[in-house]
Amino acid sequence: MQIGLVTYKPEFVPGYDVHVFFSKWVDGQAFPAAKGMQNDVTVFCDAKAIREDPSMVSQSKDGPAMRKNRKANLAFDFVCPTNPAYRKKVFDYLDSVSKEDIEGVTLNLYHFADESFCTCPRCTELHQKSGLNWTEWRAKTITEFLKEAKTHTKGTFAVEMFPDPVLAKERFGIDFAAIAELVDYFHVPLSSGNYFTNYWVDTIVRDFVATLKKPVVVELSAEMPTDDKLDALLKTVAIISRHNLMAVLLLVHDSENAKQVAQFAVHNDAFREWLKTYNFLKMQKIVDNWAKFY
Ligand SMILES: [Zn+2]
Repeated sequence: MQIGLVTYKPEFVPGYDVHVFFSKWVDGQAFPAAKGMQNDVTVFCDAKAIREDPSMVSQSKDGPAMRKNRKANLAFDFVCPTNPAYRKKVFDYLDSVSKEDIEGVTLNLYHFADESFCTCPRCTELHQKSGLNWTEWRAKTITEFLKEAKTHTKGTFAVEMFPDPVLAKERFGIDFAAIAELVDYFHVPLSSGNYFTNYWVDTIVRDFVATLKKPVVVELSAEMPTDDKLDALLKTVAIISRHNLMAVLLLVHDSENAKQVAQFAVHNDAFREWLKTYNFLKMQKIVDNWAKFY
């Protein structure tokens, strides 16, 4: 199992095998590609684009796909996934990223906002013309989008997803079986303010590993400064390392934050003893490697 980073700054950090750089964000900010890294691109969540052209927002009978619409309970503002002008803008950005010497591209938030989206006039017409039911049409729309998007990328191709292993197709149009044909791996984000309670991480990881037909990478949040939070995070990484994972990625603010996590693990005798006692071999290997640098 590899250990890696998801960062907002394109900095390589010793002791980490995989580097994922957030190159386009949910607020609409887009950055130049990070060379040698996996570039993670937010697709249909773009608050800036919606501010500039509110007609782009995805629609439902309960109103638009916006955070301020409390009936929808969404974390971000979603552009309609069939908007041709916005899709072109995403493809142009992917072309600019893929001109550089990158490791590959990961797409996130490339799907419908939720089950009741999108009922804009264009989607309503496309759905009717398709002759498919609501779930199948939406899944086909997202799979076709990913196929087209992939032609604008190079290197390793991966996707994130909302971490729902059961209803992803019905809710978001994410058809795991169809998408497995396109991607090199799946990136499952399991973000949290802390991992003091971690049975849910173990359960969701287990479900995804059993469901997905391609390698799985899990992302955990590591932007936490306190010792007890770091201890719980590292124990959670150890626990999920018992599943068949390609890598665990730690979401950090910057390289200092990444070094802090490694340093904490290396110099925490009780934690290293705990790894030995319970035979967490994959995690011991990671910490032993960190000890060479920190
Ligand atoms: Zn629409």
